[in-house]
Amino acid sequence: MCPLCRVAHKADREYIWHFFDEGANEGEAIDVVQRAYGFCREHVDMLCRIEIEGMQSTLGISTMFADTFAGIVSNLHSLAPRAEFQRAPCPACANRDECMSANAQYLLDELATNPGLRERFEASPGVCFAHFELVRSFAQTTEERELLDRVQRDAASRLLTDLKEHVRKHDHRFRHEPKGAERDSWRRAVYMTAGWPPPSESAGEPEAHR
Ligand SMILES: [Zn+2]
Ligand SMILES: [Zn+2]
Repeated sequence: MCPLCRVAHKADREYIWHFFDEGANEGEAIDVVQRAYGFCREHVDMLCRIEIEGMQSTLGISTMFADTFAGIVSNLHSLAPRAEFQRAPCPACANRDECMSANAQYLLDELATNPGLRERFEASPGVCFAHFELVRSFAQTTEERELLDRVQRDAASRLLTDLKEHVRKHDHRFRHEPKGAERDSWRRAVYMTAGWPPPSESAGEPEAHR
């Protein structure tokens, strides 16, 4: 799966766990959440999974929202009809975006200077399309773009072959044929187009407990 999705997922977990452990009690971290009027759907779900499913309590979430809404209510009192209503981005998204920009550049630097990694990348299943777009936007030279495009094209072509094979083996005439690597091609297609992991698997459990 996409190596940048792994990095993004790690950045999300670290942010959410840090916020859960410490941030929720810190005025400064709460101010950031206030300015964003809460977290986005994806990140608040991660937070809820730690607290409500993991700790089986709603005290932490309730306290965090009580502090956040104290600021929100005060902001709404001072919102004039002529003024624009503006929200800062979700702080966990902002953290992830910053981390991913740095890692997209890091990947390009490594591909340019580390032949071993470049070779592994060339034989890899590429990256998801959101991260393809990101890394491509950081590529400065034609050579860098050519490498990225070739790897992505080859990966997508191999996936297409697997998808077709998977569909073919569903035909009753070929059902007796043993299933091979193509059996999970549909899942790889989901990951390549929508990224990894699926939201229900992005639980806030710490890495060590999995
Ligand atoms: Zn990705
Ligand atoms: Zn977010």
